[in-house]
Amino acid sequence: MKKDEAASRKVATDTTLVTAGRDPHDHFGFVNPPVFHGSTVLFPDTRTLLARDQKYTYARRGTPTSSALEAAVTELEGGYATRILPSGLAAITTAIMAIVKAGDHILMTDAVYLPGRKLCDTLLKQFGVETSYYDPELGAGIADLMQPNTVLVYAESPGSMTMHMQDMPAIVEAAHAHGALVAFDNTWATALYFKPLSFGIDISIQAGTKYLGGHSDIMLGAVTVNEPVWDRLNNAYERLGMCSGPDDHFLALRGLRTLSVRLERHYQSALEIARWLGQRPEIKTVLHPALPDHPGHDIWKRDFSGASGLFSVVFADASETQIMAFLDALTLFGMGASWGGYESLALPFNPSKQRSVTTWDEPVSGVRFHIGLEDVGDLKRDLDQAFSAMRAAG
Ligand SMILES: *Cc1c(COP(=O)(O)O)cnc(C)c1O
Repeated sequence: MKKDEAASRKVATDTTLVTAGRDPHDHFGFVNPPVFHGSTVLFPDTRTLLARDQKYTYARRGTPTSSALEAAVTELEGGYATRILPSGLAAITTAIMAIVKAGDHILMTDAVYLPGRKLCDTLLKQFGVETSYYDPELGAGIADLMQPNTVLVYAESPGSMTMHMQDMPAIVEAAHAHGALVAFDNTWATALYFKPLSFGIDISIQAGTKYLGGHSDIMLGAVTVNEPVWDRLNNAYERLGMCSGPDDHFLALRGLRTLSVRLERHYQSALEIARWLGQRPEIKTVLHPALPDHPGHDIWKRDFSGASGLFSVVFADASETQIMAFLDALTLFGMGASWGGYESLALPFNPSKQRSVTTWDEPVSGVRFHIGLEDVGDLKRDLDQAFSAMRAAG
């Protein structure tokens, strides 16, 4: 089926994942778009050169491979257009810099991905942009924090590490009433389980490094916007020279084709492990929005259609040494920052020094899990023996 036929038939997301961003008959019938390596793009004559009258003019501005990925992500997000950036952080940086100028104010969620906070507190501050942080659970109360110069609300839900959920419809309404735009980091849910633009959010950001790639082998980011924001986003993209490599675009497109089947498995396995951990005496709290006792569960149920493989836990009565013994005993869980690949991960975190308005009231670190595509029984057995090692370390 041709891409435009698929779009006009309003097919389901699983079908979009298969059809988006490719038209085999544009390239000799081969199923996948080819990888265009290049820098120079030649013009056939001076008229075309002077008018820049052809689709591609310089590889930094886009190639058929980046266009294919951008088209696919745009279709998935239901947006006007997408720019692909060299990392998730580059996506955050480009999206914010597209909107703000000196003297402006950003309201950023306190449970933001930490490098986003660092961007605001250092580089953007240096350029005269002020940022303050809001309690991710304040909902419509965000209206009270709006300043005359607030131009952007930057949200992420669930929040990094602590998994705070945000009432996005209420936040969008308050921001728009004030004339501010809303950006949203959707890396956790992907457009499969939460569609930011359909909630009135203006800028949808994702670290393609995570689930889009899905195999822990690329760094990419994506920003998808509606038409009114497109010129500003594209300007920031072009001015900053934020291009990325065609092999990574190809791998992201390949990852995208299986996003739905992978996510479904991450979702179910993570939920099963989260429930199982909730029964363990060693665990005080499981921070997973799909669990009914999570404070943001109602929001998750109302706005999201699934959950990914990432959640956190708080230990019941363990020393820092015991938590480290637990982590060191795990054999199927790698320890590392980036998640969204096929493999399971466990990472200690302690946000107590990284928050402005929320608190981490635990005496010790929490642990964030990413549940991969391994057999759930094997993962439970691995966790079980690590709990034994933890008790032995006490
Ligand atoms: C990993 C991550 C990013 C940054 O992605 P990189 O590709 O590593 O720069 C941004 N937001 C969230 C929520 C992430 O987890």
